[in-house]
Amino acid sequence: NSPPPILEVNNIEVIYNKVVQALRGLSLAVPRGQIVALLGSNGAGKSTTLKAVSNLLALEDGQLAAGSIRFAGQDTARLAPHTLVRSGLSHVMEGRRIFEDLTIEENLVASTYALAGREGAAPPDFDLVYEYFPRLHERRKGLAGYLSGGEQQMLAIGRALIAQPQLILLDEPSLGLSPKLTEDIFSIIARINAERGTSMLLVEQNATVALAVAHSGYIMENGKIVIDGTAERLASDPDVREFYLGMG
Ligand code: ATP
Repeated sequence: NSPPPILEVNNIEVIYNKVVQALRGLSLAVPRGQIVALLGSNGAGKSTTLKAVSNLLALEDGQLAAGSIRFAGQDTARLAPHTLVRSGLSHVMEGRRIFEDLTIEENLVASTYALAGREGAAPPDFDLVYEYFPRLHERRKGLAGYLSGGEQQMLAIGRALIAQPQLILLDEPSLGLSPKLTEDIFSIIARINAERGTSMLLVEQNATVALAVAHSGYIMENGKIVIDGTAERLASDPDVREFYLGMG
């Protein structure tokens, strides 16, 4: 008997502006302690899936029109985004969203405000962030706007990590980074998962690096899942490589 998944998405439909249907009956699960890759071409609906999970659709006039999402056994539809953070879910959005005019340290402090009043949970852990990202410690008094793209991505992940989440939603961590930096970021992602057991749902354009760290994966097309399997199987299946991952 395996424990229930940390995240269960059942048959969800998402509609933007009351007309654009972005998700069409999408289901997926993230087992506890695992990294799950969510892959697919531009516009398939990957970012929308993450926004649905963290209850951010309303900010973009989007709506969960059908289906259900359970995080750690709770129906997320009843929870506000900040409540989700407190209960152990962090979302690293595409494009990093850091405060460029604040120092690195101040960026980390800012992300702890969402945790205020959290009951029974671990306090914000700055040392944990600096342990995984020593570069952020070296530059903690410097303005975040002066960080390189890779360092900004580290800060974005650090801001999520500080809450000691059970599940991290990661949207395109490799976006705009060199292959070397992408490799560095992904090895830290794998370490956080292996050492802390943090579950992750990882959206990526770069299927090769994503499947190298993930336990399993899903491939999306047009608002739903078309293929799923272990990361090993997806990475080695010639049809998957050619038709869905552009690696033929
Ligand atoms: P990308 O990698 O390009 O971000 P994606 O797989 O993450 O692609 P989504 O961003 O989730 O895809 O978009 C899915 C569909 O929903 C697309 O057709 C997109 O045009 C539409 N969409 C996304 N956001 C909005 C919005 N705020 N308003 C209207 N339509 C949207």
